[in-house]
Amino acid sequence: MIRLQEKQSLRSLNTFGVDVKAKLFTTVSSVDDVATFFKMPISQQMPLLILGSGSNILFVKDFDGIVVKDEIKGIDVVKESSETVTLRVAAGEEWHEFVRYCVDRDYGGVENLSLIPGTVGAAPIQNIGAYGVELMEVIDEVSAVDRLSADTRVFKRQDCRFGYRESVFKHELREKLFISSVTLTLTKKNHRLNTSYGAIHDTLKQMNVTSPTIRSISDAVIAIRQSKLPDPSKLGNAGSFFKNPVVGEKEYTTLKQSFPAIPGYFSENQSVKVPAAWLIEQCGWKGKRNGDVGVHHQQALVIVNYGNGTGESIYALAMEVKSSVQSKFGISLTPEVNIV
Ligand code: NAP
Repeated sequence: MIRLQEKQSLRSLNTFGVDVKAKLFTTVSSVDDVATFFKMPISQQMPLLILGSGSNILFVKDFDGIVVKDEIKGIDVVKESSETVTLRVAAGEEWHEFVRYCVDRDYGGVENLSLIPGTVGAAPIQNIGAYGVELMEVIDEVSAVDRLSADTRVFKRQDCRFGYRESVFKHELREKLFISSVTLTLTKKNHRLNTSYGAIHDTLKQMNVTSPTIRSISDAVIAIRQSKLPDPSKLGNAGSFFKNPVVGEKEYTTLKQSFPAIPGYFSENQSVKVPAAWLIEQCGWKGKRNGDVGVHHQQALVIVNYGNGTGESIYALAMEVKSSVQSKFGISLTPEVNIV
């Protein structure tokens, strides 16, 4: 049974803590609920926003449509051998709770993705990744309910067209589907541990870990993230506000001549990833505050709401940051956060 509420406040449903309202609001707790909702004519007539944990979204105004809060829960074992386990995870599960479930059972593959905020259903949309591991490496398939037909569709890994923080769900299929579950295969032994990122390597060393395990890598990632990222339950934020930009090798070489300290990580296709936090810090933004909004004092990539900041004021600050990076470095930052 789908109940639509009018003028629902979304303040507690977005980690920026922005006080906006949805024209209509409902929650779904099963795939059947989603299908029932999509068979209601109103679901086709109004703008639709599917909300997971609201951790990657900035509302700049009231939402003039229907917000559907995903509360589909459950983790099922689909297949298991002595080597691997295949799990189907419902979209409304919290991503980090799922990582903890895996770490507790010594299932390998997602430990580098510890403490990433958001739900499991949101994870494939941007192919979440951190510290050298991306979700696409462990995903088998994504199930989703089609908005037009209300039928379930299954996308095998190759159909998802994953890229760096990219997928088909972000583009062609945007607003056309409700992702209902994600199926992944994890290792039970012979884990492929990834400790190549300097921060993990250094943290494991500080923790006196000489033979890393799934749990110690997860602990290291949690320690790194907690040391530089503010807790949204204490200080409103949506994690990294901008994507780390990727520039061509030639552009990077030119930048290096003007800014010898500029960090860059080369990849195979002649492109270089530049840490957005460094660029923002160089423009003097780290720790700056404008009324109730500001740039975090430990991580310049995070914009924070000190209490009563509005979506518009957060957005305005982000655009100021973007334009100063553009004028100093000629690099155009793109928000990672969805602006609604
Ligand atoms: P960071 O660790 O300072 O890294 C900044 C940039 O440098 C990233 O683009 C990262 O690439 C790259 N980089 C750093 N060390 C590298 C290495 N050893 N080899 C290759 N590339 C390297 O960045 P941060 O912003 O604090 O983020 C920490 C991690 O969380 C990063 O892996 C970042 O991608 C991830 N993250 C993911 C999401 C998401 O999935 N939506 C959001 C925020 C942060 P990579 O991006 O390829 O790692």
